[in-house]
Amino acid sequence: MVSQDFNELQKRILELKHEKKVLILAHNYQTIDIQEIADFVGDSLQLARKSAESNGYNSILFAGVRFMAEMAAVLSPKLPVYIPDPRALCPLAACLDAERIREKKKEYPGVPVVVYVNTTAEAKSEADMICTSGSAVEVVESLGVDTVLFGPDANLADYVRKHTSVKVIDLNEEGHCYVHNKFDREMFLDMKAKYPDSVAIAHPECPIEVQDVADMVGSTGMMAKTVAESDAKVFLIATEMGMVQQLQKQNPDKTIIPIYDAAVCRQMKKHTLEKILNVLENFPEENRVTVPDIYIPHIREILEKMNKVRGQGPPVPVEAHS
Ligand code: SF4
Repeated sequence: MVSQDFNELQKRILELKHEKKVLILAHNYQTIDIQEIADFVGDSLQLARKSAESNGYNSILFAGVRFMAEMAAVLSPKLPVYIPDPRALCPLAACLDAERIREKKKEYPGVPVVVYVNTTAEAKSEADMICTSGSAVEVVESLGVDTVLFGPDANLADYVRKHTSVKVIDLNEEGHCYVHNKFDREMFLDMKAKYPDSVAIAHPECPIEVQDVADMVGSTGMMAKTVAESDAKVFLIATEMGMVQQLQKQNPDKTIIPIYDAAVCRQMKKHTLEKILNVLENFPEENRVTVPDIYIPHIREILEKMNKVRGQGPPVPVEAHS
């Protein structure tokens, strides 16, 4: 039943998604109005898992950037996957192509390649392992090697360097998320001085100088868990604003303060309720996200390897294996 709290556009979207059996997945960085009409809201890996549990649906609508929708297409190959705005591309993912990885492999023969989940399907097809921000350290350590090639996020690479003894070679030294790279140590320390009883949490895509002065460094999933479970009342958050708004909504008895309120991902914000409605009404072919069949088995394999490292079951339904 549709809640009276929804606006007319949201009500129409909810009616259509039920009628047409569309699973709507929204990333943490989406605006709250989009999060409200989604079946699930989460980080890229949580949403990838949800896309693998899509029995009973006719299609998936993924409100996130393209590489995330590609993951849904990999894990749920029987369902068409749509994105509200096909121009929603992550610049971090775009800065590491398969050719650059092949060149690095030639330069460092035998060194395993670990790619961040924020990569294109083509880049993932060249990797030995995949990781999320929350699993990067465990994944690198699991390889039992002295050296890894890692990318594309150079700040996340610094985080791995700090927490392991493995030599980490950047696949792209210039690879940064422009949103998280905006945070700096001074703004962080200023906010800490202003709110001395707060817990300050930074995403590992922030520069290492910021990570060094944070009380905790973690993925958006870890932020949500920490804020929900902590006895603290005030939290300073260094990540994208959509996550800050979500944390406040989910924890109304706590005060969630952004370290920098201009940290907004323009690519994530390309999606709107109007564009979601357009997909639900028309299912335009240009909004469909596909991954070449040739890449799918390898990407599923490295995803399963990552989940084994984390002690979690494979995100892929058994019957979907071919
Ligand atoms: S917040 Fe950064 S990493 Fe995430 S989609 Fe936007 S640009 Fe890419």
